Amino acid sequence: MTANIRIALSKGRILDETLPLLKKAGIELLEEPSKSRKLIFPTSHPNVEIIIIRATDVPTFVEHGAADVGVAGKDVLMEHGARGVYEPLDLDISRCKLMVAAKSQAEPVQGRLRVATKFVNLTKRYYAEKGEQVDIIKLYGSMELAPLVGLADRIVDIVDTGNTLRANGLEPTELIATISSRMIVNKASMKMKHSLIQNLIDQLSEAVEQNRKA
Ligand code: AMP
Repeated sequence: MTANIRIALSKGRILDETLPLLKKAGIELLEEPSKSRKLIFPTSHPNVEIIIIRATDVPTFVEHGAADVGVAGKDVLMEHGARGVYEPLDLDISRCKLMVAAKSQAEPVQGRLRVATKFVNLTKRYYAEKGEQVDIIKLYGSMELAPLVGLADRIVDIVDTGNTLRANGLEPTELIATISSRMIVNKASMKMKHSLIQNLIDQLSEAVEQNRKA
């Protein structure tokens, strides 16, 4: 039987912190994804299957209806745009901050600021809203290196404990947004599979509430 609801998750923190919430909603994986090369996983719930994909692809799968439901960080949703999906629930997991950072005691910058980030779209929007013209340099990782080797004056990155910044002689200078993971839903699925999805939203929101109280 084909599953009625497909949920898109990404490996790592989101998977680790979403699975206990899904468990409280009666949905458990039948096998350990880290021990498998499979991408589609059946669950203990006969109408639900889980796909495991890259975090940045989750909004795309959900927007196109290839998954009915997904879990994605607010950073990923802000970068993607995610205009084609509903965002009914803050799961209050994978919390962190999206920040601008610079070398500690950085000299004032003459001319246009060079900002290295993997979050090109949201960084553009952030500086446009401040009315500041900047040059954005797209990187795919190790953003912290950019100011150290003269590639950029600032970075825009995710900060949790701040250890990565400190270890590289950087410090946060501006908070762009506080981030947590959100449940997202395909707009057509919300209509066509309303009772299954509304039930999932209700059960997850109860699980989130229990976590908040614990
Ligand atoms: P920290 O050293 O604790 O500030 O962690 C910073 C690094 O961990 C960043 O470069 C991020 O890539 C990663 N990180 C921490 N928390 C998250 C999160 N919730 N989502 C995505 N990446 C994260």
